[in-house]
Amino acid sequence: MTTQEMYEQINKWKKEKNAIILAHYYQRPEIQDIADYVGDSLALSQMASKTDADIIVFCGVHFMAETAKLLSPQKKVLLPVMEAGCVMANMMREEDIKKYREEHPDTIILMYVNSTARCKQYADVCVTSSNGLKIIDHYAKLGKPMLYGPDRNLGKYAMQKSKDIKLDLWPGFCGIHNGRTKEEVLKAKAEHPNAEFIAHPECKLEVLEEAAFVGSTKGLIEYVTKSECKEFIVGTECGVIHEMEKRCPDKKFYLLSNMFNCFEMKLTHLEDLYNCLRDETNEIEIPEDIAVRARKCVDKMLELSK
Ligand code: SF4
Repeated sequence: MTTQEMYEQINKWKKEKNAIILAHYYQRPEIQDIADYVGDSLALSQMASKTDADIIVFCGVHFMAETAKLLSPQKKVLLPVMEAGCVMANMMREEDIKKYREEHPDTIILMYVNSTARCKQYADVCVTSSNGLKIIDHYAKLGKPMLYGPDRNLGKYAMQKSKDIKLDLWPGFCGIHNGRTKEEVLKAKAEHPNAEFIAHPECKLEVLEEAAFVGSTKGLIEYVTKSECKEFIVGTECGVIHEMEKRCPDKKFYLLSNMFNCFEMKLTHLEDLYNCLRDETNEIEIPEDIAVRARKCVDKMLELSK
């Protein structure tokens, strides 16, 4: 079956089943091209909370589909590849954050969206790379102790941006973002002297300090679209370049490192999406007591993101 034939059949099922396909910017280009909506974690959460569709097929990793299910509990949320996880999300275990909560009852727990629903149930608020600085800043004004996790790098970046922010940091990170170095950036800048370097806040501070702009995947895409610069060294996962090239065919994009390729995100192929929608398999289910508690921190994030 050709890609075009698969697209036609997927579109036919979408109408018959009243289904919507959401895809993260890190997905394969052929998945992004058939999706109804492509976005970052925040935008996809907002879309999941608003859609009238009966079925959401979430092309991304497990915690994202879980977040969609939290926000659309009556809808059927399907994840084409159930094994597609997130290394960073797996760096926080439920028993550890539960213990932290018990030992620090007055601490505000700010939970990066890259976390399981089981961990989110112990948090006060959820954040993404789009709204992280704004929400951390909001809670810093309350003057209470704060924990941020599982991504330590965005937390360090927030503390560097504002002296008023003091965070206890969970020791988690994304392997592919955290693995990038200042030396790699300097080498890429030397190779592309006319290019601006832009980076995602999951990178280490030494990398972010070299960037002309730091932002979420959506923020980075919007930045290159508006910028007058014609060349960019991209400091995040390779999937975003598909959207950047679509929006800016006259500009050049160089990936900082070939290591910027998330194995988990690339587990989903068009055939997986096709089979998943046809058979309505891989439904996300969250025990109701956990969902009720975890939903509160995601709802709080959406309220503060308006
Ligand atoms: S790029 Fe990193 S943080 Fe994002 S899904 Fe992959 S492992 Fe997780």
